Amino acid sequence: MSESKGLVLVVEDEKPIADILRMYLSREGFGVQVESDGIAGLSAAKTLHPVAIILDVGLPGIDGVDVCKDLRNSGIWTPILFCTARDDEVDRILGLEMGGDDYITKPFSPREVVARVKSVLRRTNLVQTGAGPVVVGEVSLDSDTRRVLLAGEEISLTATEFDLMEYLMSQPGRVFSRDQLLSHVWGYSSIVGTRTVDVHIAQLRSKFGKHDPIRTVRGVGYSVEIA
Ligand code: CA
Repeated sequence: MSESKGLVLVVEDEKPIADILRMYLSREGFGVQVESDGIAGLSAAKTLHPVAIILDVGLPGIDGVDVCKDLRNSGIWTPILFCTARDDEVDRILGLEMGGDDYITKPFSPREVVARVKSVLRRTNLVQTGAGPVVVGEVSLDSDTRRVLLAGEEISLTATEFDLMEYLMSQPGRVFSRDQLLSHVWGYSSIVGTRTVDVHIAQLRSKFGKHDPIRTVRGVGYSVEIA
């Protein structure tokens, strides 16, 4: 086998699901560490430096949402793919202050989970050309360093928030439809709902606060304003 694509941490208490994810991810060249409760998962996420985390929401110990919160509060922005058995948990998973990058509802196909992991890694590992930061209003976004400054202060965005903002800022003033944003940022518009876009936009707005450059165009989509 060629060199490892990195370690994926799977936090899942249902052993058959964990086993099949391990098999599929290993086959794709990832290293895989499985933890079956929230506390062990949190500890592994902090010590093993995985490239991505597949995080079940319903876990013994502490649930997946609290694991994610703890990681983000600790300044750890490893991409997280949530697994949930309940569609009504999606807002909570992707909601304000949470910082999940994507979610998949059970039952899922392991192939799809692997595709999602690859997608999130592709998005976080994009090779950029040295064009320097793009500035719109008080927001400065640098695709090379993947850093965002807000009124001169660095702020933390999840991989997905960054990609969404990067795409909006690629053409300031242009209105992007939710479908355009989905297909560019998530890359599989037929699977993820447009609500995902709205939730991530809301998170960005909350982070930008009074310097928020995002404009909602009712019935169409979103743009960023030219300063
Ligand atoms: Ca579970």
